Amino acid sequence: MTTIFQKIINKEITAEFLHEDDICIGIMDIDPKAPFHALIIPKQLIARIGVAEESEKQILGHLLLTAKKIASEHDLNEGFRIVINNGPDGGETVPHLHVHLLGGRKLTWPPG
Ligand code: 5GP
Repeated sequence: MTTIFQKIINKEITAEFLHEDDICIGIMDIDPKAPFHALIIPKQLIARIGVAEESEKQILGHLLLTAKKIASEHDLNEGFRIVINNGPDGGETVPHLHVHLLGGRKLTWPPG
């Protein structure tokens, strides 16, 4: 099954790109949950963090460092949150790993 994120990576459908390199893309979320809400998505399909493998740790680290880079480029100086939803109880809706980067308001804790 081709996910919506694979179609965005393949440029078959549009998205607001913030970042692209050999390993990942960074796009704005279409339905933002905070004033700033980006998604960092590996080009290689990893369905979710729960099935990620040791051999993919360079990709996983790269996603976090890219999230940090995007945060610094968008003035999230007062803080931000990085979230990965995993599986049905975790709120995952697209089975292609993605890191949420949220900021621009005071985020509450614990999450719902
Ligand atoms: P999940 O719930 O799987 O952790 O997150 C999926 C995210 O993808 C949601 O925040 C949702 O708003 C976003 N999303 C779903 N479809 C699209 C789309 O076509 N374009 C963009 N930019 N984001 C999408």
